[in-house]
Amino acid sequence: MTATRPDPTHLDIGARLSRRAQTMNASAIREILKVTQQPDVISFAGGLPAPELFPIEDVRRAADAVLTRHGAAALQYSTTEGHPPLREWIAARHGIPARNVQIVTGSQQGLDLLGKVLIDEGDTVLVEAPTYLGALQSFQPYLPRYAQIPTDEGGIDVEALGAVLREQAEQGRPAKLLYAIPNFQNPTGRTLSLERRRALVELTAQYGVLVIEDDPYGELRFSGEPAPSLYELGLAHAGGDPDQNHVIYSSSFSKTLVPGLRDAWVQAASPVIAKLIQAKQGSDLHTPTFNQMLVTELLPILPRQIETVKQAYGARAGRMMARIEEHFPVGVDFTRPQGGMFLWVTLPGGLDTTALLPRAVEHKVAYVPGSPFYALGGGENTLRLSYSSATDAQIDTGMAALGNVLRGALA
Ligand code: PMP
Repeated sequence: MTATRPDPTHLDIGARLSRRAQTMNASAIREILKVTQQPDVISFAGGLPAPELFPIEDVRRAADAVLTRHGAAALQYSTTEGHPPLREWIAARHGIPARNVQIVTGSQQGLDLLGKVLIDEGDTVLVEAPTYLGALQSFQPYLPRYAQIPTDEGGIDVEALGAVLREQAEQGRPAKLLYAIPNFQNPTGRTLSLERRRALVELTAQYGVLVIEDDPYGELRFSGEPAPSLYELGLAHAGGDPDQNHVIYSSSFSKTLVPGLRDAWVQAASPVIAKLIQAKQGSDLHTPTFNQMLVTELLPILPRQIETVKQAYGARAGRMMARIEEHFPVGVDFTRPQGGMFLWVTLPGGLDTTALLPRAVEHKVAYVPGSPFYALGGGENTLRLSYSSATDAQIDTGMAALGNVLRGALA
């Protein structure tokens, strides 16, 4: 018998990757964006905040002030929990103690760390259909099992949620976690109604299911009335005790201020925060000290900045909806966002937006096909448009071109 030995001249390094690493996929959207990044194509595929609105002069002044005020401390290692004045400001705004706030390096890191501390292999994670692709990417390495909850114009279908929770509990394998984006969802732009928020918080509490409320867009409401966050409703449900709140809240300065500083936070009950701190120590020790001080220094201009961004996005969304009405054929449906950066288009069943994308690119316009946003598949006839960084002329030309493509597809 001859034992097979590794060939010392040719080590198959790919085969030595962890099972976890092998579950990771290149983001379908990144691949798609490559096709759409030709210079003469008007792309509504990206989801970038409008760069011309970044408060560059304020950041310059704040950087100088931070260095004058804090000197070397601004450039030194700091605590994992986060810069105390920033944590305290967030805590005060949400009426909770600072110990329930963890600063993270982008809410994307928050999602990864929450996956790490909450998801065991095989745990059921409930997600909206469709949901934020980046969250699926964060959770996937922790090997969850997904269940999709259908959504409609009012957000998550809470009756369907109730049925899934009941069924799973009856089967003796209750869901662990629900991940939801109640405000101006990425990718649909939809907002969960107040009634449904109440029902969702009640139902999940009843079944002992934790909720991750991802809310990077909540401050960017340009029409309609704000509703309380799931976190606030969860807090009320817990009699005001943040350590008994089954809702975990995640938000970010990326969409209100600037994304490149990577400053965001998580609000959660103390046992979750304690583990997030340990997980974050192993990940990056702490969010960059200088960036946290910079954001703290910029807090006084935040209300003005949010106003500027809201007005711009509201005008762009309004223009995009008007042009869609004008140019898209009958039978194509679209959401009417009241905030945020995205709008969702549904074509008649049977049409495939992935197959249609090359034709759109030929017509010099691009979008993201909807199906990658579904954890378990679906949505082949849907697509996402982002209006946040589009000019008026791009919206006018782009929606006319896309209207042509859709009319051709429906003919
Ligand atoms: N959650 C959602 C729903 C998002 O759309 C985004 C950004 N695209 C993020 C989280 C990540 O944001 P950040 O890491 O910049 O805070």
